[in-house]
Amino acid sequence: MSAQTIPSKINARKFQEMLLEWYDAHARNLPWRKSRDPYRVWVSEIMLQQTRVAAVIEHYHEFLRRFPTVQKLAVAREASVLAAWSGLGYYRRARMLHSAAKVIVRERDGTFPRTSVEWRTLPGVGRYTAAAIASIAFNERVAVVDGNVERVLQRIVGKAISGEQVWDLAENLLDHARPGDFNQAMMELGATVCAPRSPACLTCPVTQMCISRGELPDIAKAAPQKNREVHYALHRKNGSVFLIQRPKNARLMAGMWELPEIVPPPDRNDPLFRVKHSITVTNYSVAIWGLAEPAEVTGQWCAIERLPNLALTGLARKVLRRSGIFPASGRPANSSRVGGQD
Ligand code: SF4
Repeated sequence: MSAQTIPSKINARKFQEMLLEWYDAHARNLPWRKSRDPYRVWVSEIMLQQTRVAAVIEHYHEFLRRFPTVQKLAVAREASVLAAWSGLGYYRRARMLHSAAKVIVRERDGTFPRTSVEWRTLPGVGRYTAAAIASIAFNERVAVVDGNVERVLQRIVGKAISGEQVWDLAENLLDHARPGDFNQAMMELGATVCAPRSPACLTCPVTQMCISRGELPDIAKAAPQKNREVHYALHRKNGSVFLIQRPKNARLMAGMWELPEIVPPPDRNDPLFRVKHSITVTNYSVAIWGLAEPAEVTGQWCAIERLPNLALTGLARKVLRRSGIFPASGRPANSSRVGGQD
């Protein structure tokens, strides 16, 4: 028996039954839940790390259309993988996914690992992700703990457990017949019912067994947000926009394409428009200025029709969409071509 035992108020079998019954009836209809194919489960789990479900839904199908198998992903150029990832952020994940695909194809003849221990040997796969993939795709009896599960378990036992105690408790509650569904049900409960600020205890399927019923103080306080104003130039001519590539050794978004950042024009009136953009703990107010010729010499005029194949930063994509150059459908508004690179 693990160190963190189940409180006497909680009957594990009953808990599993109630949670799974609720999950079967109320689980959100998410595209990656339609398949237990390990490639699809793996891609979805990597995309979902620190990323909203709505953003993942926007990119999941397109990524699988471009790279329908691990073999296709393994032979793809990194620039193409980053282009398909553009808008999801945390690009290190895409690079790791790409590296792991090469390992699976070259060192394992395209055979996926089956156990969480094996999955953890791949680049970009940590304890949570390995357990999620192995339990969902291969029914391994291994529990997952993410932020949602940790919050739910703390509230259920009514105290601020952490680290291995949470993993132990999750293992002790795990349903051995349906481990993948149970894990997804726990995460779903945390995402949709046992929400961080206002848990919906009246509609919670396990409320009878919950010790805190939402009365536990919010343990995980969000980091304070900072505000910053930044300015970017939008240069456009003859069916092209002027973009610059971030250094290959940049700590963030290395090698990706973005608009040139500028100091605000001294004789400015109003910018073309403003957008809001958040990265980790900083909220950016971004002013976009329509300027004639670029002062930068290191950038490049990129044909608008090539933009979908370019690894754009999330902010660049947002600005180009807002300006009507790059519509939400992914097809650029102007198809005339002057130059470009992907
Ligand atoms: Fe969370 Fe409330 Fe359900 Fe407890 S009863 S698990 S606090 S939603």
